[in-house]
Amino acid sequence: MENLWTENLRNIEPYVPGEQSAETDIVKINANENPYPPSPKVAEVIKNFDADKLRLYPNANATPLKQALADYYNVDIKNVFVGNGSDDVIAIVFQSVFNSNLPIVYPDLTYSFYPVWCSLFNIKYKTYPVDENFRIHVEDYKEKNGGVIIPNPNAPTSIGEDLEFVERLMEYNQDSVVVIDEAYVDFGGISSVELTKKYENLLVTGTFSKSRSLAGLRIGFAIGSEKLISVLEAVKNSYNSYTVDSLSIAAGRASILDNEYFKSTCQKIINTRTRVTNDMRALGFKVLDSSTNFIFATKDDLCMKDLFAYLKTKKVFIRYFSVPRIENYVRISIGTDEEMDIFLKEVKGYLKV
Ligand SMILES: *Cc1c(COP(=O)(O)O)cnc(C)c1O
Repeated sequence: MENLWTENLRNIEPYVPGEQSAETDIVKINANENPYPPSPKVAEVIKNFDADKLRLYPNANATPLKQALADYYNVDIKNVFVGNGSDDVIAIVFQSVFNSNLPIVYPDLTYSFYPVWCSLFNIKYKTYPVDENFRIHVEDYKEKNGGVIIPNPNAPTSIGEDLEFVERLMEYNQDSVVVIDEAYVDFGGISSVELTKKYENLLVTGTFSKSRSLAGLRIGFAIGSEKLISVLEAVKNSYNSYTVDSLSIAAGRASILDNEYFKSTCQKIINTRTRVTNDMRALGFKVLDSSTNFIFATKDDLCMKDLFAYLKTKKVFIRYFSVPRIENYVRISIGTDEEMDIFLKEVKGYLKV
């Protein structure tokens, strides 16, 4: 017989991240990681970091990092929140601002962590289907709700929306908090950060994991009105005061200050994306117009799940989602030109062209 104490254990379906591999000679384009190293200024900070500093708790307000972000985004430090990756930030957002009895709303095809947080924190949710071209219809979001969260650009579709879309969303949702998840915005999307000055109920989240090549360091942030940020701070400080460690504060700040390097690596990824998109289309794939560091692709006469499995045997890891409506699509992160050449070579090998 089962012990009774097991009945009190939480039974939950967790988020499944892109596979990590111990192998070193693989082309790993399955987790939207950046193929380029972080800024050399970050490496310098880490190399010169005085381990003795780790005796002490970090700066409680992560001020050096927050101030760098505030200057970069042209907002006050009181408008900036930081956390241990944007997954941590968004989890705190869910617990802080989604407290309504009405469901929160988001697109049916989107970041698959959202339903996991809803389940973990007992938040009701409702999804609106994106259309057959994977576009989000802003008119759907007119209905009363307990909050809105939309990635812009969206994932895994890679499609970005403009500021008019966000302005309409704000017009329809004056009684709830609207969160725009900008994990991919630096690869050609349009940021809503400026709009947080106009709308007190708009919160924008971002991450150092993709465009700043720091997925392993874990830094995420949110920008919004003082009112929203102070609620996030209060919830965070009711749970874990030190989510950003001393090394991350110093290294994250160095990343923000090296804008030239940041711009150049983002541009390299955009250029590679354009080339790979064209090459894939020439091979007969349908590739959505991407504003991110990945592409979302299908081919009418091809089983994408088989392609995904085949590429894995060739040590090329891409991402496949066994999710209705997109079960014949794959998501391919943009790596270096050399990595993408290997990817394209193996795809051609599979197609026998
Ligand atoms: C990657 C990603 C995040 C989380 O990034 P962190 O590594 O936790 O900072 C959040 N939202 C979306 C849409 C993402 O793709």
